[in-house]
Amino acid sequence: MNRPKRLLVANVAWAHETAARNPEFFRDLARGQNPHVLWVGCSDSRVPAETITHCEPGDLFVHRNIANLFHPDDDNTASVLEYAVRVLKVGHVIVCGHYGCGGVRAALLPPEPTLPHVNRRIAPLCALAKTHGDELQSRASERERIDRLAELNVLEQVRQLRASAIVRDADPAPLVHGWIFALEDGRIKVLASGYEADDAMTCTTAAHSAA
Ligand SMILES: [Zn+2]
Repeated sequence: MNRPKRLLVANVAWAHETAARNPEFFRDLARGQNPHVLWVGCSDSRVPAETITHCEPGDLFVHRNIANLFHPDDDNTASVLEYAVRVLKVGHVIVCGHYGCGGVRAALLPPEPTLPHVNRRIAPLCALAKTHGDELQSRASERERIDRLAELNVLEQVRQLRASAIVRDADPAPLVHGWIFALEDGRIKVLASGYEADDAMTCTTAAHSAA
């Protein structure tokens, strides 16, 4: 059986099992969505938002791209944020990066000539790596440099999201959180919680050193 066929067969099984577990599930799903969370994550196949948070369809409004980047002037990411905040009125925006991120690793290497779109996309991440060059170089291994830059990247996206007019002008404004996922044990670490006042300090510090 080819791979797409296998996925379609699995879909039929999933639909049957889901309906058997909860006969109202698809009727409710078809009525519309009311997610409370916008998830901004990496496209990496190992970090599926719903799976790692035990969520169901309808729970998360999801945007994923390479290295979980938010660009206020990019219509793709900005339109997702705009719709999530202004129409769905989500209460939380979660940026979730992950350790061992290939997009983050690429930002620490020379540009790959066959990947011009990726290179353009991760340019701000390369700039962030330069800004934190001294700190990153002080890390003993490449893996540690990648993982530290992945954390700094999450904090930078949190800062950008909190600074965006879409978030700032919302009333009430959604809380923006920064998380990072570890492939080794499947656990998420909170780097910036929208609930904590001292988060502002963390992000401001990151912003200052990134400026
Ligand atoms: Zn990644």
